[in-house]
Amino acid sequence: MKIAVLKEAPGETRCAAIPETVKKFIALGGEVALEKGAGDAASIFDAEFEAAGAKTGSRTEVLKGAAIILCVSGPDGATLKDAEKGALLVGGLDPVRRRAAIDDYASAGLEALAMEWMPRITRAQSMDILSSQSNLGGYKAVIDAAATYGRAFPMMMTAAGTVSPAKVFVMGVGVAGLQAIATARRLGAQVSATDVRSATKEQIMSLGAKPIFVENVAGIEGEGAGGYATEMSEEYQKAQAELVSGHIAKQDIVITTALIPGKPAPRLISDAQVASMKAGSVIVDMAADAGGNVDGTVTGENAVRHGVTIVGAANLARTLAADASALFARNLYNFLSAFWDKQQARPVLPDDDEIVKGIRLTQGGKVVHERLTAA
Ligand code: NAD
Repeated sequence: MKIAVLKEAPGETRCAAIPETVKKFIALGGEVALEKGAGDAASIFDAEFEAAGAKTGSRTEVLKGAAIILCVSGPDGATLKDAEKGALLVGGLDPVRRRAAIDDYASAGLEALAMEWMPRITRAQSMDILSSQSNLGGYKAVIDAAATYGRAFPMMMTAAGTVSPAKVFVMGVGVAGLQAIATARRLGAQVSATDVRSATKEQIMSLGAKPIFVENVAGIEGEGAGGYATEMSEEYQKAQAELVSGHIAKQDIVITTALIPGKPAPRLISDAQVASMKAGSVIVDMAADAGGNVDGTVTGENAVRHGVTIVGAANLARTLAADASALFARNLYNFLSAFWDKQQARPVLPDDDEIVKGIRLTQGGKVVHERLTAA
């Protein structure tokens, strides 16, 4: 069983394998072939992979005879012309936005598996790339905010006077938001947070932050389906806007992380609310890639509006390439090893398995996922 690890396209710093997962695949009876330089951007060089037992080579060489192809972001179909028919292509394939590429994978006879569509069930937690990458992203959002903010985060009592602690407000308390709260607290900020899911209230308090919640209109009771939020009623949105208006003007840093699966990100901060903040305040919009939570967000750039810097954060995990690669690579290993059939020395993916149904996009030359065929 040969497993190919691709070198990512420019801009993607992460690598789909690390020496540890190479060793683990070999222990399962696999053989790992890494495209030369695949780990360079994550500071993991070919020699380390070779010491772990991987062979390195050109894309053509690594694809030849490979039954599994690992990637972080979906490759351009044209670069896979040497791939074997029936090979599994496993990674973050961005199926909705890269629909044409998914069609190309189907025509090439590949079985494409989109790891970001991993169902949110306990068994799949260790395979969940969205969680592992959001966790790092939430941390980095706060570090970036601190680097951009012209003041300190912790309270400091010095002979020259007292520096007051920064006030940080986190909007959207999923995986990224929880890590943002924890990181801001560690840096000594005064932290508050909000979400539409009532289950997050306790989580916010357990991290030592203050929950700010709409009280007069019902939000989503408990966790919501699969932990995901849905679009809120107009009445809720109005109540939330009023609540945020009262709170945001007093904040120095706002981190927004709110996402709704399959929909554009909800707009949580209006231009007027940005204008109500003190000059020098910083907003990090982690939903920038999904359309943004903030009026005025420019993806991948810092935009200054009314003296407030709005950071259009795009894929922050890429800026922590070594850790992000390690977690991503383990997610891939955890998935493949869970389905590994020792006798056949390869993963066997049953059609009726919830995980397989969730992530399999193409099979037998066709696009088979209902979220894609229904569209
Ligand atoms: P997400 O990235 O989809 O969304 C981020 C957060 O934004 C969510 O908490 C959501 O409720 C919130 N949000 C959406 N609309 C909002 C609005 N209008 N105002 C304020 N907040 C809004 O979520 P996520 O980080 O992927 O995780 C959400 C939940 O799922 C968490 O409780 C997490 O623990 C759970 N989860 C479970 C598994 C598993 O069991 N395998 C895996 C991943 C996540």
